[in-house]
Order: sequence, then structure tokens, then C-alpha cells
Amino acid sequence: MKKTYITMKRKGLLFFLMAIQLLSAYSCSDDNGQAQNQFTVKRVSIIPLPVSLEHGRYNIAIPRDATISEDIKGIGRDLLSATLAEITVNPGGAANGNAFIRIYNDNTLQKEGYRITVEDDGCSIYYSAPEGLLWGIQTMRQILLQCGTSDDGVKNIPLLILSDAPKKAWRGFHIDVARHMFTIDYLKKIVDHLSFYKINKLQLHLTDDQGWRVEIKQYPALTEIGAWRPFDEYDLRLIEQAKSDDSFRIDSRFIRGVDQYGGFYTRDELKELVNYASTRGIEVIPEIDMPGHFTAAINAHNDLSCTGEAGWGTEFSHPLCAGKTENYPMIKNIIKEVAELFPGKYFHIGGDEVEKTQWKKCPHCQALIVEKGLNGEEGLQNYFIKEMADYARSLGKEVMAWDDAFIPSEPQELLYTYWRDWMSDRPGLITQGGFQMIFMEWGRFYLSADPSDAQLRSLYEFEFEPQFKNIVKSNVNGFQACVWTEMIPNETRLEYHLFPSLQAFSELAWGSQRNWGGFQARIPWHLHRLEQSGFKPRKSAFTH
Ligand SMILES: [Zn+2]
Repeated sequence: MKKTYITMKRKGLLFFLMAIQLLSAYSCSDDNGQAQNQFTVKRVSIIPLPVSLEHGRYNIAIPRDATISEDIKGIGRDLLSATLAEITVNPGGAANGNAFIRIYNDNTLQKEGYRITVEDDGCSIYYSAPEGLLWGIQTMRQILLQCGTSDDGVKNIPLLILSDAPKKAWRGFHIDVARHMFTIDYLKKIVDHLSFYKINKLQLHLTDDQGWRVEIKQYPALTEIGAWRPFDEYDLRLIEQAKSDDSFRIDSRFIRGVDQYGGFYTRDELKELVNYASTRGIEVIPEIDMPGHFTAAINAHNDLSCTGEAGWGTEFSHPLCAGKTENYPMIKNIIKEVAELFPGKYFHIGGDEVEKTQWKKCPHCQALIVEKGLNGEEGLQNYFIKEMADYARSLGKEVMAWDDAFIPSEPQELLYTYWRDWMSDRPGLITQGGFQMIFMEWGRFYLSADPSDAQLRSLYEFEFEPQFKNIVKSNVNGFQACVWTEMIPNETRLEYHLFPSLQAFSELAWGSQRNWGGFQARIPWHLHRLEQSGFKPRKSAFTH
């Protein structure tokens, strides 16, 4: 048996299939092989659940000086080395064929797909592209970190054959850093976890009424003035709640004086985060929310609004004046600087919750509506979004917007992030119109909602039907989880909302298999590991 394994390794799909047969045969056989092995099998709990995973009949020892193939370079090598070191194995390097962890190219695999075999003489990861190799390494880490320890301290992992690939290309996480922000170092830790769970997009909501968080060289007032606010109603509520529950305390690193909240990310800090995430398989997408949610910028540049001042309408803040085309160059300059900072493919332009009351009264807005023959204020919003989206596209970006920017009578070619679940016909309309969509309706995908085990299960078991009908599923690029931070003013509070919801989300978004019972059985190890690494997941029925 052992020899069979060794001779057949590293040979691609045919041998992989044969290996499954042999492994199954082996599983059914008597315990002939038992004598040569000291460890009984310990099943691994992998999240997101792979497409297929078969355990062998016993565990193999991880050598105390286990080697990593010299063909594994960069972050993959760093991650594996750190993982082995964490389980007190002293990692070294070796030629690929001789290493304990080795890699093989297999062009039959999808870009993000991979296979892993753990055999008597070590572990092989098969891949066709860097993305697949990285996800294979992340799964390998989950296997290694769940190793057993024998009485004499030898670490061991199960023989296994694992095959995996995602169903959807987009597995995103959105975080609002405008209402409350987090340090770049902490965001990197979040990136570590996103990558661990094969989430591949991170949308940063960088600007809103409550703060402008990205340094813009040409307009320093955006951060000198726009990054700061007097404590708002949420801050005051948090201060009150923190008197009885310290987990609501506002992170003091972002408090100035006694009653101001704010801060911003420098260009270098953002470049560092983008690079860090990129090497871990995650594209960072900037969002500059416009024309609504623009109060922070209007506070710094009053002429951006219709009236020369910021303010609130009946539902939302007054937007920037879309009628003053003399301000368009400034908006485009901001888009250009931000686009340069984030070298990825996507740029999110916002487009949600645009209050129209001032536009109705503004001579500039009304003049532009007449001049361009626009369909009222809605047409004006569409005109402005199109002008800015066209500009971002001229910089090579694919432009995203919230589904509020989807006007059924004059739809634009945007990648829509769908969130308004009370507009349940929108996903059908958007996708039937041939437009691409990322699904993140707030009922389940907004992790900032009050978390509970019932909410967790509802997210985990999400299906489009019956609530969202007539969706052209091939136009749904994937899913995104979303955190808004009005009531999340520090790391502890964020972790309470994120975990274990993020793990449930990752399994839904990866999309290979879902099984609530299985998820409940697998989640405790992951929560335990988070706690070991200093994170504070929400206590749930699954916390052991
Ligand atoms: Zn106006």
C-alpha cells in the first residue's frame, strides 16, 4: 500500500482518480496497514468546505524538520513556514521532489482550483495558477494547524485526498471606515483572516458624511477638515453604552481633544495595505461615495453643494451639486488619485441614497436638467454618475455602484452591488438587463446587524428563491459580506460581528457545498484558533 502511494504520486488527474479508488478500497479493508502506523485518523475541519475530501485510514507524522519545496516562493512559503513553526515543527527547504510539502502544475484545474493529497511521504498541492496555489496553501495550513500530537510529541495529520474550486469568482468583504476606522495594522490582520477563508475582494468604504479617510494630494482640506467630526449621535450613544459595557468604547486613537472623532489613511499606508492584500489573493476596491453621502467633502469645500453649505434633507444628507459642472474636474481629479492608489480592476463610485430636495430647488441643477434634456432629478443623478463612471473607465477601471444607481428606464453599464432587499425585483431587473451584479442584500449579508445564531444560520443557508425571483444567475458574479460601523467603534466590537459570520459567509460564497450540521461540527476549531490568536469571536452555541 505504501509503495503504491509513493509511485503514483504527482501524476495529475488520472492518478488522482486512481488514488481515490485505492483510498476507498483501503478504507474498506481490514487493518493490515494499522501496524505500520502509530496514529489513528483525526478528521480535519476545513472552512470553506472543499468540493470533495476523503480521509485515509490513519495519520502520518509531520517530520520534526519538515521541508517545504524550494519551488514554493514568496508569501506561500512565508505562510507555510510560519504555520509549521506555530505547530513547533522546524521548517527547512528542499528540492521539490524531496520536500515534505511539494507542488505540481496541473493545467486541467481551474484558475482558483487546487488539489491536495497527503500520502505516506508527504503532501502535494496541485494547481494551474497562482490563485489556486495560494488557496491550496491556505487549506494546507488548516490541515497542518489541526494536527494531532502523539504521546511523545510527534505532530501528525491524516492521509487525505482533497479536490476544490469555487463556484463564483467574487467572494467579497466590505468595510465602512468612514463612520469608525481601524488602523492599517489591524486591517492587515483582517486581511489575514479573509485570505485564510479564501475571500478575494475587500471593498473599502473610504468616504461618507461622517468622514473622509483617504489622503488626496491636490485637496488636503478633504482630510484636514473632512476627516474630523464633532461626536455625532452614534458616538454619543456609544459613549453612553460604554458606561455599562466596555466593548462599546470608542477607540481612543481616533479621538481628538474631548469631542472630535477622525483620522485618515495616508497614500503610503493605503499602498501598503493594497500590496499586503494583493500578495494574499485579495484585490482591494476603493469606494468614493458620490453624489450623496458627501458631507465630509462639502465641509472642506463648501462650493461642492447646491447652497454653499452642508446639511440634511428629509432622509439623507444633501448631495454634492450635480448641476455645477465647474466642480466636475475636482471630482475627476479625486477619482484619478484614488484610482492610481488602488491598481486593481475595480472602482466603486457609490451612488446610493441621493437626497433630491435641494436639486429640485437649485438653479444650477435645474439649468443642467433643461440643457441636457434630463428626466428630472433622477436623470440628473444618472447623468452625473455616467460622467464620473465614463471618466473612471477612461483610466482603465471597471466601475461599480450600489443598486440605487440602477435606473430601470435608463440603465447604465455598471457592476451593481445589490443591497436594498425591500426592492426585491431589482436583482431580476439588473441581471435580466444583462448587467453584472454582486449580491449583498442587507437582511443577511450585513454583518453589522445584531448577530445571533439564528442570523448566522439564515446567512449560511441563504437561497435566492423565493424572495428574489427571476435572477439570471450567470450574471451574479458572487456574494459580498458587509460591515457598517456606526455602532462598531473598536476592534473588539468588530470581531463580535465578524466571527463566526465570516466563516459562514465564506462557505456560502465559495459555494461548493453547504451543510448546516457539518458547519456546526467544523466551526469550533476555527473559533478556538481565533481566540488563540487574540481575536474575540462572538460566543455562540458553537463555541466550545
Ligand atoms: Zn445643485
